[in-house]
Amino acid sequence: MFCADCGRSLHRQRAERKKGPDVYWFHCLTNSRVAKDSCKGVMMQETEFIATVTAILEKELSVALGMSLPLFQLEAKQKKDKDRLKTQMSARRQETEKKRRLIRGLYENFVQGILTNEEYFELKADYEESIRTLSGEIEALEKDMDALDSRLVRCRAMEKDAKSLTQDHALTAELIDRLIERIEIDHERNIHVTFRFKSEFQGKAVEPCTKNM
Ligand SMILES: [Zn+2]
Repeated sequence: MFCADCGRSLHRQRAERKKGPDVYWFHCLTNSRVAKDSCKGVMMQETEFIATVTAILEKELSVALGMSLPLFQLEAKQKKDKDRLKTQMSARRQETEKKRRLIRGLYENFVQGILTNEEYFELKADYEESIRTLSGEIEALEKDMDALDSRLVRCRAMEKDAKSLTQDHALTAELIDRLIERIEIDHERNIHVTFRFKSEFQGKAVEPCTKNM
């Protein structure tokens, strides 16, 4: 949790009450510890903070899930995507084998004097270059395959989190840790939440549980 104004982390402080339970406040210590008037200052009671973050999180998760495929459809799509990758990989493996056979054939031709020394090495280098390209492509396809697996794991987890949040309306430390990267509060007590599931999903070749995959 950070102060949106100065960027420093917020301090959690207990305020004792004679009647009733103690209350907790989050506040920015910059003005008192670093320099006076160097921050607009942030102060927020913990109960208000938790209620607001829970509401934000519920909304974000339901939006994310609203855009997402139901799990059973996702699993079917997962299988299709994996089959496609497997086909592409096996085609490249076969192609690699073919090039290897061609290299062996070249050597035969070279020994029998059908190819000159120069022709032999030139053709061999060509085939070897194709094999390197193919093996790079296979590696990339394997990575896509792994990304598909972790996508399903993330989507399952997200659905579980959304369920537990909407059922219990309780923000657990585990949920916060898994879903939230950073929280900023400004001097008007606006809360800005950076979600892990969003930053994690951005810029990946394999999209998360969304319909437009
Ligand atoms: Zn501050």
